Amino acid sequence: MPQLPVDAHSLRGDQVAAALDSPLDRGLSHAEAEQRRKLWGTNAFSEGGGTPAWRRFLGQFHDPLLYTLLVVGAIKALLHEPGEALVIWSVTLINALIGYVQESKAETAIAALARSVRTEVEVIRDGQRQRLPSEQLVPGDLVSLEAGNKVPADLRLLQTRNLKVDESSLTGESRPATKGTTAVERDAALAERLGMVYAGSFVTSGQGQGLVVATGAATEVGQISSSMQQQVNLSTPLTRKFRRFSHTLLKLVLVLAGLTFLVGLLRGRDAAEMFDGAVALAVGAIPEELPAIVTITLAIGVNRMARRNAIIRKLPAVEALGSTTVICSDKTGTLTQNRMTVQEIYAGGALVPLEALWPGNGSPDEGDDTDPLASDPLASNVALRETLLAGLLCNDARPSQREGLVGDPTETALLQAAQNVGIDRQQALDAHPRRDAIPFESEQQYMATLHGSHRLLMKGSVEAVLARCNRQLSAAGQPEPLDGTSITAAVAAMAKRGQRVLAFAIGSTDTNQHQLHPRLLEEGLDFLGLQGMLDPPRPEAIEAVAACQAAGITVKMITGDHLETARSIALQLGLGEGETVRAIDGRSLAALADDALVDCARHNDVFARVAPAQKLSLVKALQADGAVVAMTGDGVNDAPALKQADIGIAMGQGGTEVAREAADMLLTDDNFASIEAAVEEGRAVYLNLRKALAFVLPVNGSASMTILLGAVFGLELPVTALQVLWLNMVCSLSLSVPLAFEPRPPGLMQQPPRPPAQPLLSRGLVRKVVLVSAFYWCFIFGVFLWARSHGSSLPLARTMAIQSLVLAQIAYLLSISQASKLSWRHWYRNWHRTPILLGGIGMAVLLQLGFSQLGWMNRFFATAPLGREQWLICSVSLLVMVPVAWLAERCDPTTGVAD
Ligand code: ADP
Ligand code: MG
Repeated sequence: MPQLPVDAHSLRGDQVAAALDSPLDRGLSHAEAEQRRKLWGTNAFSEGGGTPAWRRFLGQFHDPLLYTLLVVGAIKALLHEPGEALVIWSVTLINALIGYVQESKAETAIAALARSVRTEVEVIRDGQRQRLPSEQLVPGDLVSLEAGNKVPADLRLLQTRNLKVDESSLTGESRPATKGTTAVERDAALAERLGMVYAGSFVTSGQGQGLVVATGAATEVGQISSSMQQQVNLSTPLTRKFRRFSHTLLKLVLVLAGLTFLVGLLRGRDAAEMFDGAVALAVGAIPEELPAIVTITLAIGVNRMARRNAIIRKLPAVEALGSTTVICSDKTGTLTQNRMTVQEIYAGGALVPLEALWPGNGSPDEGDDTDPLASDPLASNVALRETLLAGLLCNDARPSQREGLVGDPTETALLQAAQNVGIDRQQALDAHPRRDAIPFESEQQYMATLHGSHRLLMKGSVEAVLARCNRQLSAAGQPEPLDGTSITAAVAAMAKRGQRVLAFAIGSTDTNQHQLHPRLLEEGLDFLGLQGMLDPPRPEAIEAVAACQAAGITVKMITGDHLETARSIALQLGLGEGETVRAIDGRSLAALADDALVDCARHNDVFARVAPAQKLSLVKALQADGAVVAMTGDGVNDAPALKQADIGIAMGQGGTEVAREAADMLLTDDNFASIEAAVEEGRAVYLNLRKALAFVLPVNGSASMTILLGAVFGLELPVTALQVLWLNMVCSLSLSVPLAFEPRPPGLMQQPPRPPAQPLLSRGLVRKVVLVSAFYWCFIFGVFLWARSHGSSLPLARTMAIQSLVLAQIAYLLSISQASKLSWRHWYRNWHRTPILLGGIGMAVLLQLGFSQLGWMNRFFATAPLGREQWLICSVSLLVMVPVAWLAERCDPTTGVAD
């Protein structure tokens, strides 16, 4: 077995290859690779790492509220109430545990989803070019890189063409570094090692080929940090807002609690009792369980989106999705099927359907006297044949045994077209062996190849190709002056029919060139012809566009394709209003001033021939207009626009790793319909969060009102601090967590998006919370006072007050929950649809039964068992709550469909 080369940057490529025992002509064999994998391990970073579990657990206590509770517990202990101290501490512990478990579950789930999208690399093994998952790379593998790739391992470069690499993650240098193949000094710094590329950097342009010299933990990044895995960040704008909200609340509550304590003392009450009241107030007023609920709700949203083919990479996207107002989508592959077939060919002045060229498709019924050449346009029209041949030669698609033709769908279509008319690929390649190529890039809009000693071929957008031609090939095969008007007319006719049009040109170099340089292609080419191909819209995308429109979301198409082609597809997709689609092209966009751009971005439905850099200004213009923008992208240069968009969306199948890394969300099926699905789930998440707020806040509101008023008016407190703690943390949690699992209601996509500025606590929601709080308060005090006046002991009256509150909560919960709303009248038939909700209620009931009926719980919480009559009294609140809940629902409906 060879040794891993040290200082590969200071050795020549062939020396490294020799050291690694790697045959440069055919790569490693699979068997050899397998052995090396056993020796050096897979090309992955070890799992785990990061913050150890115990520290993350302790992190849960890093919260002012929990500090307060721990201190209160300590004071209690000092006041010789060890029992209470213990309960306070254990409840805090339970809270931290729940938070910890939830957080790590959410984290692992999200991280696993992100990992499920695998990176593939192009490797030469056994003499064959193939795509492998990047984990399978071993030292000695021969890897090809192109723009948009993430460098999969540390490589010693053997060949480069304009290769530029973004190494900022390693060197901190944000400008892409130009790479070559020359060896450098042994002690050169990382940034100066010309002939090396390192794992974790990105190819921003050009191509290259290199030998793997280190994989996994042996790579430079692997040595820096044992875990290069993406750290999942659970903090989102919403969770931060909640945190701020609860901190403000905490300060307010602490002041109030202090006041309560003082007022009580001034009124001559017992200090210990007043301290208890103040603590109860502090505990009761703060919604401790909210952060946990927000995290769970977001995590569940992430899971549901994944099930619908949208993988969230950054949690804040879940929230933003729900308020999306504009979706800017690529055309090719996302809105369309990316299954292209050549329809028509224009060459030598004639526009012919491809089918007419199929062998045996001459026109037999025209009789014998017609010229045999005329019935076979391929033979009579040299330009036509050359156009098809160019489509085959200037092409990176190739046949594969398993999958038919593989490659870019545009190119497989061209290859198929040539094969359909009977041109043999192998024969053509033998006659015109390829020397060099410049691959297609969206910016240049062309691809070019060099064949034999002097044949240059170019294909690309009509604009890109025509700009370089001054002659054209006639049907007879002779060069003649370029007839721009006829060509443009043909392009217009084909584009109107929705065809993606590619132009072809031929040229020659006089010297025996082996390298193709863009300089050779600047002018002097001969135009060959056009091929027009159809890429039908995805049927699901048509439905999804309609759904978005019903949901008040504007769909815009951004494409590198021709304006008329794009417009025609947009019409089929139902973009725009009615039958009018407003379209503009990149050149007109570039001429606009900033404020005009905002207007233009708002009004147009289709943006054609857009350069990636313009996507960024489009996103900015839309955002300046107040839109929440979701934007798709797949190229290297789409990354800035993806980052700028509120939701950057990359493709999980097609698309470059650069785009994926920049994106907030990935589509596993590259399908526009999945964006719509994710928006719907995003709205459901938001709705469930509002439900949780609507449910949790009244409990806090009523508890604080109870204690505050009780203290101010010098009444007996109907709940103790411990009881409030229990109520808040244990019982409320079991009732409110199920709200995070609420199914998505129908009609979510039939209302307009929520205004981005709308606070979570809308005015309607505040009204609802106040109303329900007031009634809760009435139940607590009403039942407590009634019990006291009927001779109950203090513990019994308190227990009754609490039980009636919990019963009211259950009634309210049912009114909020979607399940009961779906079938309010027939809920008994639908109960099984809501197992989690029922489970939660069942658990709360059990907990509360224990709370009042179990002896040791009685001692712990100073409660008393209830008799039948007392239970009856308590359940009055359940009955009263039904109309109250109905009223509350009027303030702030929690259905999908707005009333
Ligand atoms: P989109 O992905 O939005 O359809 P592209 O940037 O891929 O747009 O394509 C823009 C134009 O570039 C196309 O209209 C076509 O004329 C040309 N083009 C597309 N793919 C290729 C290719 N593989 N080779 C040469 N030209 C191409
Ligand atoms: Mg494309």
